[in-house]
Amino acid sequence: MTERHTKLLEKHGLSKTPPRLNVLSILTSREVATPESYLEKKLGDRVDRVTLYRTLKTFEEKGILHKVLDQNGTANYAICSERCSEEKHYDEHMHFNCLICNKIYCMDEMKLPQVKLPRGFKAKSINLTVRGICRQCQSKRS
Ligand SMILES: [Zn+2]
Ligand SMILES: [Zn+2]
Ligand SMILES: [Zn+2]
Repeated sequence: MTERHTKLLEKHGLSKTPPRLNVLSILTSREVATPESYLEKKLGDRVDRVTLYRTLKTFEEKGILHKVLDQNGTANYAICSERCSEEKHYDEHMHFNCLICNKIYCMDEMKLPQVKLPRGFKAKSINLTVRGICRQCQSKRS
């Protein structure tokens, strides 16, 4: 349990329950987005499935994490930017899904391209996932 995790919960008005702290410490320790199955495995008996499901849902609603679908349609969870809150998410960055290891990277520094919509349409959110081969997998190949 680090201070960083308790602070994050406080900031979003959530009580510091052990399941929440456990989930956060796993998510923040990884550089890539995390699928629910990975969390289940890591948590073992410490957190049951229903609690895990609820925890992820709460975190998403409160602006602590955002969901990204991989190429198989499986949900992966990534920690949000500092600015995200219950009112609004600001995760308008590109995602990269590796076709070999299936990892999802948040590319925070890559801004999304502007899209031009036909008249009468108004964009509310946009998401872009690039598929390809990540740096790690590329270096294994060569
Ligand atoms: Zn967010
Ligand atoms: Zn890869
Ligand atoms: Zn992301």
